[in-house]
Amino acid sequence: MSQLQRIAIAPSQLQQGQILLTPEQQHYLLRVLRLREGDRFIAMDGQGKWWLTQLAGEQGQVLESLLVQTELPVSITLMMALPKGNGFDEVVRTCTELGVTTIAPVLSDRTLLHPSPQKLERWRRIAAEAAEQSERSFVPIILEPVAFNTGLSLVISHLSLVNSQKYICEARGDYPHLLNYLNKQQTVNNSSAEWSRKQKTVVIATGPEGGWTPIEVENAIASGFQPVSLGRRILRAVTAPIFALSLITAAYEV
Ligand code: SAM
Repeated sequence: MSQLQRIAIAPSQLQQGQILLTPEQQHYLLRVLRLREGDRFIAMDGQGKWWLTQLAGEQGQVLESLLVQTELPVSITLMMALPKGNGFDEVVRTCTELGVTTIAPVLSDRTLLHPSPQKLERWRRIAAEAAEQSERSFVPIILEPVAFNTGLSLVISHLSLVNSQKYICEARGDYPHLLNYLNKQQTVNNSSAEWSRKQKTVVIATGPEGGWTPIEVENAIASGFQPVSLGRRILRAVTAPIFALSLITAAYEV
């Protein structure tokens, strides 16, 4: 069990036991995650192969290949506006059980909670416990809370090179159901060998009790997010991410 960051690589980046990191991947590992020389991370080629890798200059030195049995064939990042009270604890626990890869807590315009630094440690402990309980191979990464717009930029810089689907859940408005997109994506997966060679990444954003502001939704759309519905009822801020995660995991696992 390890809490190592995972990055998606193209199969061609692996050459003689070395992973040739792109400038974007170097930026992400060194500047965003603040990894140092010798730190370990996991490289995934999107074809089911994972490698434990060590940062060595501008490259990754492959240490060993990893056996992965309980992880999803998709990387899921949940961007969630922090709910009030301790609601986030249960979201971290349940989404870890469901298979989330990264959780990015964000502070939106209508977020009421501004968490103490101790909260982050608590969430990471909860994720570790839940990963162990659900027999996962890896513990999800819980990022430090950032402003929603900063979160959007991080997601874009991190995922710019991979084939990602990005959705923002919006309780009002006439948007297509998330399941429609997931079903379409599965059809593409099954019919296109080319697509399956690319890394599959889903980013899902859910709002706070008061919902996203119109400008937040606009910014997300400008960053490549598709607004989606989760059905005709208004779900609580803590229910929405769990329902969305359940749909995504079922779509990719069944
Ligand atoms: N107060 C908001 C309103 O009246 O529009 C509702 C916010 S809801 C409690 C919290 C978050 O859950 C929303 O921002 C959205 O991300 C998500 N959510 C809840 N129900 C949803 C639905 N039916 N479709 C899509 N997203 C939903």
